[in-house]
Amino acid sequence: MEATGCIAIPPAGIRVIDLLEQAGFEAWCVGGFVRDAFRGAAVHDLDIATNAPWRESARVLRDGACSVHETGTAFGTITAVVDGNAIEVTTFRSDGTYRDARHPDSVTFVEAIEDDLARRDFTVNAMAYHPTRGLRDPFGGKRDLEAGLIRAVGEPEKRFREDALRILRGIRFASQLGFKIEDATLQAMHANAASLRAISAERVFTEIDRMLMGDHVLQALLACPDVIGQVLPEIAAMNGCPQNTPYHIYDVYEHTAHVVADSPATPVSRWAAFFHDVGKPVCRYTDSSGRDHFKGHASQGAEIARDALVRLKAPVHLRDDVFTLVRLHEWFVPATEQAVLRALNKLDGRVELYRALLALQIADSGAKAPGVTERLEAAQRMSIVLEQVLGQDLPFTVKQLAVNGGDLLAAGWVPGPHLGSTLDELLDAVMDGRVQNTREALLEYASRHCSI
Ligand code: ATP
Ligand code: MG
Repeated sequence: MEATGCIAIPPAGIRVIDLLEQAGFEAWCVGGFVRDAFRGAAVHDLDIATNAPWRESARVLRDGACSVHETGTAFGTITAVVDGNAIEVTTFRSDGTYRDARHPDSVTFVEAIEDDLARRDFTVNAMAYHPTRGLRDPFGGKRDLEAGLIRAVGEPEKRFREDALRILRGIRFASQLGFKIEDATLQAMHANAASLRAISAERVFTEIDRMLMGDHVLQALLACPDVIGQVLPEIAAMNGCPQNTPYHIYDVYEHTAHVVADSPATPVSRWAAFFHDVGKPVCRYTDSSGRDHFKGHASQGAEIARDALVRLKAPVHLRDDVFTLVRLHEWFVPATEQAVLRALNKLDGRVELYRALLALQIADSGAKAPGVTERLEAAQRMSIVLEQVLGQDLPFTVKQLAVNGGDLLAAGWVPGPHLGSTLDELLDAVMDGRVQNTREALLEYASRHCSI
């Protein structure tokens, strides 16, 4: 074994490699598994590359009692399931030309693992590892892994022209791993960014989503605003958009990058942060003193964000929640139990959405000029009150009342739409502290204050 350290391959992977090799073929662990295992990161999906044609791999593995699914045979891939673990097994291949900057028109199966590694995107993803033969690393992936570098395999220009998605993948890996993008690779990313327009919305969404979720998203966003702007022109307009106000030290894009990085790493929070100020470029108005105003940017931005997410074919729930968060990101209520209960009520009782709104407001207020802390403190106070309110089990939706429509009917009320408005009135009274949330108190209150 080379003196490069060894990594633990899960038993299911060893079994697949052994079966293939006992049948006279060659097999290696490849791709993200090798990269992440060397980083000591959590277990990753295992991909195996082999010189066995896929039909042969399927036969050998089935004979070895693995179940086999023919998941991507046009590209030489089958999936073996061993002890509940799905392992992709792909025949060594080199990709042909790319017609649509994404799918190779053809794949050519090749003899040597080195040729298979050469088709891979980045050096850290182009290592092969074998339990006894050790590491095969013709492009210096291990060195780049240790140096924290994303470097294209081969000539970066050519590799991005073949498949533009690799540009976004590179930024996504930089965001996830905290790696710098090597100079020539970064230059080629900038130079070829326009070809990203040929990439399908679903793939763009997946990569941007994973990039936004990365621990190092701030650096990734700051490295490539132009690239992101190609797939999201709405975001491009924020880059360089000044904010001449006493509250800001960054332009809209840089401010946004900080807010994203300071937001919880959930899709709703990170996408909402990404879009929270997207309405600013269109709403910007500079007064005669040179000061900028952005009146209406929250509601305009919500529309822009929704349209962008529709275009990217984002999940409907994400689109809707981001719309709400962007629209409300400047909505501050007093830090009192009553106001917070009413805010929860306005959000249809969606506690997590309110938590996400407050987290966005905290991240947003924190990324402003030093000394501008009023809103930050207000949002922090609201968060404390929110948790207090939740701890006391106070009602903020009609469903949480100690009575329902049936109880009112049983107490002699006649059926009709006024039952709903009576329950609303009761909830109002409970939230204001005018009546206790108990069955007796509510029925008594209803009989005295609500009209039948
Ligand atoms: P993760 O699964 O964490 O996203 P990964 O490296 O496993 O990371 P996959 O998309 O699962 O990424 O791809 C597996 C491997 O296939 C990669 O490590 C890389 O070697 C290769 N690969 C994937 N997509 C491309 C591409 N567009 N161009 C070249 N090689 C690619
Ligand atoms: Mg993978």
